[in-house]
Amino acid sequence: MINNDFSYFEGWWRLVQPTLARRPSALMLVGPAGIGKTRLGREIAAALLCESPLAEDRSACGACRSCQWMRSAQHPDFRWVQPDAMAAEEGGVHDVADGSEAAEAADVGPGEKKKSQEIRIEQIRALAGFANIGAHRAGLRLVLINPANRLNYAAANALLKTLEEPSENLMFILVADGLRGIPPTILSRCRRLSLPIADSELSRLHLAKSASAEWLLPALSAGPIDPLRWADHAGKSPPADVLELLQRWMNDVARVRLGIAPRHFAELQTVLLAHAQQLRSIQRFGLAMADLQRQRAVADHPLNPRLFFETIFDRFQRAYL
Ligand SMILES: [Zn+2]
Repeated sequence: MINNDFSYFEGWWRLVQPTLARRPSALMLVGPAGIGKTRLGREIAAALLCESPLAEDRSACGACRSCQWMRSAQHPDFRWVQPDAMAAEEGGVHDVADGSEAAEAADVGPGEKKKSQEIRIEQIRALAGFANIGAHRAGLRLVLINPANRLNYAAANALLKTLEEPSENLMFILVADGLRGIPPTILSRCRRLSLPIADSELSRLHLAKSASAEWLLPALSAGPIDPLRWADHAGKSPPADVLELLQRWMNDVARVRLGIAPRHFAELQTVLLAHAQQLRSIQRFGLAMADLQRQRAVADHPLNPRLFFETIFDRFQRAYL
């Protein structure tokens, strides 16, 4: 394989084989943000275009000319469609989980136009030429669309027209964090594959990316909970990120309290246990968790981040009282 950065990639690879063998005209890979769906999409494209796929798992050889083209993102039979804002980010190599990150990266400067967060109709129309010319090599051409949730209305309609007239030598790979925002008409044209991932793996990926984990996890371990000081610490941490981390933490505390193994922070079992013992009642803790969940609605763009942090840390603290 060209990319094999994740331990679960091989499992995914086996999972997709039966579907690939049927050569669907559109395949949709669905799973949480940031787990490597786009990489899998590229891997599939590389394998299908490879001149000598490996005998053992039909993955791309990584060495032929086609594989070299894929690696340098110059394959004439491969197109990658994504919002301009994402493409602007380091060539868009990763799944971008957070739209706001992409927006910031794309914010090129005062007076310059902000890059689109959506996949525009022009991008889908541009595929017409690609779809109609002869394929450069083996006969197959591939289009990776990522994320499918960001196709705007006009683009989705244009794509639907293409999907309604499938061409034997053209295959679409769509990537989506979830099905929200994808028209049912598009969904019905795709063979859908949900990519499984363990909670512990998801947490590991999340922590690896999470700037707040660096200060929040030590703070949780050190205790006591101090909403005002923590709000100072939070500073420019992404509010949604901090909230998610707290929610995962509470989830694990509740599990430990109920005698169930933690899902996300197994390595912090001792601290979780200490927190679990401080809980006056699990019902009250559950209500506090639900309360934090409601904050999710404003977490992406709180009017006043400082106040937002004070509020969620305060509620977190009260959960223990
Ligand atoms: Zn190859």
